[in-house]
Amino acid sequence: VLEIRDLHKSYGALEVLKGVSVTARKGDVVSLIGSSGSGKSTLLRCANLLEDSQQGDILFEGEPVKWKGKGPNRHPADRRQVIRMRTNLSMVFQQFNLWAHMSILQNVMEAPVTVLGEDREKVETRARALLDKVGIGDKCDVYPAQLSGGQQQRAAIARALAMQPRALLFDEPTSALDPELQQEVVRVIKALAAEDRTMIIVTHDMRLAADVSDHVVFLHQGLIEEEGPPDRLFGAPRSERLKQFLSATV
Ligand code: ATP
Ligand code: MG
Repeated sequence: VLEIRDLHKSYGALEVLKGVSVTARKGDVVSLIGSSGSGKSTLLRCANLLEDSQQGDILFEGEPVKWKGKGPNRHPADRRQVIRMRTNLSMVFQQFNLWAHMSILQNVMEAPVTVLGEDREKVETRARALLDKVGIGDKCDVYPAQLSGGQQQRAAIARALAMQPRALLFDEPTSALDPELQQEVVRVIKALAAEDRTMIIVTHDMRLAADVSDHVVFLHQGLIEEEGPPDRLFGAPRSERLKQFLSATV
């Protein structure tokens, strides 16, 4: 579904990604782990073209992103391709980012109706089913502020799913939540993994990464320091940096 090859990204003089390659095939769950500042969020945002990158390729369903310009002047060349990728690589953020002035149902319906131009009634049926699926079907008519953090994050997941994306990108979906509330979100993510969804998950939750991933990537200072299947990576880490990271996070 998504292939990132040798991606480089700088903010001015700060080189944040120094040549990172990650592939998510259909049905794969890939987790990105690493210390704060290692470039995990940046990689996700570059992947769905929320941010420009300066070098390297991004392929969506085998189709390479078309660029114009080079290096710091490189930008996506095809506006329609950008929209297609953003809608197909739906993102879930740490801070939920629900629209405060819209009900939960409206939050879930908004993008399919306005961005994709889908039929309102069809979208509503789908939105209600998705809210049921994440366990908050009774919260359709309330506003985000009336929900707990865990419920808000589940609404945000329903909103991402409403776009019927080819893959879901999660950026620390549980980090803003208390431990009990994390579990309700973890349950939803596990259910999605069991459905064979393609997902890339940035997380500090090593339990989650170990439980759901097919592949784990450890980023360190903008480079992949080590990667592999979760059993191997967590059970027998090779690099000293990964060992240190794991002993510090537990
Ligand atoms: P965390 O675990 O804290 O979320 P991260 O691995 O997601 O960290 P990034 O957010 O990708 O890290 O940031 C990587 C580096 O890029 C950091 O040094 C950060 O300060 C820098 N950075 C991120 N966004 C910007 C920006 N918009 N402008 C300038 N520098 C940025
Ligand atoms: Mg981050």
